[in-house]
Amino acid sequence: MTDTIFSKIVRREIPADIVYEDDEVLAFRDLNPQAPVHVLFIPKQPLATLNDATAGDAELLGKLLLATAAYAKQEGFAEQGYRTVINANEDGGQTVYHLHVHLLAGRRMHWPPG
Ligand code: ADP
Repeated sequence: MTDTIFSKIVRREIPADIVYEDDEVLAFRDLNPQAPVHVLFIPKQPLATLNDATAGDAELLGKLLLATAAYAKQEGFAEQGYRTVINANEDGGQTVYHLHVHLLAGRRMHWPPG
């Protein structure tokens, strides 16, 4: 299992601005926001990358996405729009090897991403 700074946030060993929590999912504001809203949704039990997910993680992955959409609706920007991103490994730009969904909102997103 992978123990990164995000596991330390789950264990409350380092501070974070937590905006959502349930038994399996934690969400907190990104330290270096790339949009007016930038929240990271993580499974409390870490997977290093999306490549490490198996069929047994299907429900957990679904919960991560559902929690993200529920937060967008709750905060009132779901209709206006938002972007979700999962970076994987080096070329994907992943720097923290604890699977996380970036939720970005509050400005018009561009495509293709950099
Ligand atoms: P990238 O750094 O290229 O965005 P990732 O997809 O792995 O790669 O994203 C990791 C994210 O975690 C970054 O957006 C970074 O700002 C954020 N981050 C790193 N440390 C913390 C922390 N202690 N609290 C909140 N966010 C953090």
